[in-house]
Amino acid sequence: MPKPIQTYATPFSGLQADISGIPGFEHVAPGLSLQAILETVEQAPVAISITDTRANILYVNTAFESLTGYTRNEICGQNESVLSCKTTPIEVYRDLWRSIQSGKVWRGTLVNRTKAGKSYLAELSIAPVLDANQRITNFLGMHRDISTLHQLEQELKHQKALSETILDLAPTIVVLLDSERNVLLDNQAYKQLKTGFGATEPAHLFMEALADRLDGNLFGGFNDAQVRFDAPNGSECWFTVSGIHVKELDHAAQSYFNTGDENGHYLLLVATDITTRKAEAERSRLQQLKVQMAEQELTQSVRETLSGAIFQLETPINVIQAALAMPQSSPEALYPILRQVLDSSQRAIDAMRKALPKAEQERRFLVNINQILKDLLVISTDRLLSTGVVVDWKPEPVLPTITGSEASLRRMFHYLLDNALLSLEEAGRRNPELRLHTSVKDEFIWVEITDNGIGIPANQRLKVFEPFHSSWKRGRGKAGMGLCMAQEIVNRHNGGIRIDPDYANGCRILINLPIKYTSEAME
Ligand code: FAD
Repeated sequence: MPKPIQTYATPFSGLQADISGIPGFEHVAPGLSLQAILETVEQAPVAISITDTRANILYVNTAFESLTGYTRNEICGQNESVLSCKTTPIEVYRDLWRSIQSGKVWRGTLVNRTKAGKSYLAELSIAPVLDANQRITNFLGMHRDISTLHQLEQELKHQKALSETILDLAPTIVVLLDSERNVLLDNQAYKQLKTGFGATEPAHLFMEALADRLDGNLFGGFNDAQVRFDAPNGSECWFTVSGIHVKELDHAAQSYFNTGDENGHYLLLVATDITTRKAEAERSRLQQLKVQMAEQELTQSVRETLSGAIFQLETPINVIQAALAMPQSSPEALYPILRQVLDSSQRAIDAMRKALPKAEQERRFLVNINQILKDLLVISTDRLLSTGVVVDWKPEPVLPTITGSEASLRRMFHYLLDNALLSLEEAGRRNPELRLHTSVKDEFIWVEITDNGIGIPANQRLKVFEPFHSSWKRGRGKAGMGLCMAQEIVNRHNGGIRIDPDYANGCRILINLPIKYTSEAME
């Protein structure tokens, strides 16, 4: 047991020693006494202890007494280990002793116990005290209770872990970006999305897709914006994305008293994958289109049939009318019969005219020809697959819209595609091919529909546009009005349609539609 050195009882009233002669204190201003220095240590609001080189306590201050519950008379002469709660790992003590014995300051946390047996977390600094020969004579220990701080830290960690778990369980994609677009936080749904994108951050794709729409001001926040992009595997992805602007309060020391200061700007992106919903909506749109087209086709075929009947009836009536107009060459007896034929034929024509379904009212909208052609290809997929037709679809990447009747234009392209497929079926080639190309040239949209089917001989290239011209071997009730109607629709849109005379391997139809289009043409 070491002999306790002299302890100082407070107040240190008898100590008026002049300290200016002590090494290290040569430059103190007059007025600082040894008593003042001792009072400072004694009254410091942190637990201070001074030990010998084996940690036997020689002195403790008032704060030490209050924190540990030991009076200085009880503790002086005992080893600091009396404070140990025996739960601090031995490696920590080894590190502590290694440091202080090599003359370095050690800082760390130990689990301590008060005299009453209550454990607390001690944030401790131990500094070696050296003599004039640089030998360690004592150790100075300073510690404070950080149990409450630790408890708060633990609660914060727990809350963070809890929020991360909730975030991870959410089916919504959540990602937090800083102003440099670095991902700071994300959840499982985002991580899953990212696995399909390799090195690309899907959050950056969201931002690029939205940048134009929001004039680059993404950090201003936005709600439920729809975003579409192609995943690396070629599939189309659709998302609704909301962006929430998050401000971070400045934690720099100089902002301590200005709690409103902002430090950083963050963007919280919340996205929902709506690809399946979109695909369903697209499927039902195409289904509706199919039904609509089937109805239009039915109406059209009734119109074609009736028009054909009217056309055929009109010819004999014209003859009869001509015969009646020449009474000298008509036998008297035939006159009433002819009159009767004429009247009944006329009545039949009138009845058929009344039976003709009304032509649709054409309404003009902005129309995308690529979209119409793509829809028709999708609708015809089954037919194309069953006949083994290879389709070469080359749309102009950005095709301007034109003002026109979408229904008429769709019908027009449907006639032309139908003709191309019929021609391929009749040719019975091994490699039936259908090429659909769109392009823009000289203020016109150009569409080329090429097939390697039976082709149209040069002497027929104008005739095929006449009404009721049909040369299909397997006509399937076609009245020969398709090209005639197609031409009429193109004309109504101020465009042109012709058969390419230079194409010999089948048939190539060339259609051009003006981009700037005069509205009178539709009236
Ligand atoms: P011990 O057997 O005493 O020590 C465990 C390990 O520590 C040993 O295996 C050895 O590696 C190392 N060690 C211990 N004593 C020495 C030594 N004299 N020389 C070299 N290595 C040694 N401990 C606390 O628990 N709480 C405190 O608040 C605290 N304050 C301290 C303040 C000062 C100024 C100093 C110098 C030490 C302080 N210690 C404190 C450390 C304390 O002295 C003991 O080392 C520690 O409590 C472990 O005690 P133990 O009886 O569990 O094991």
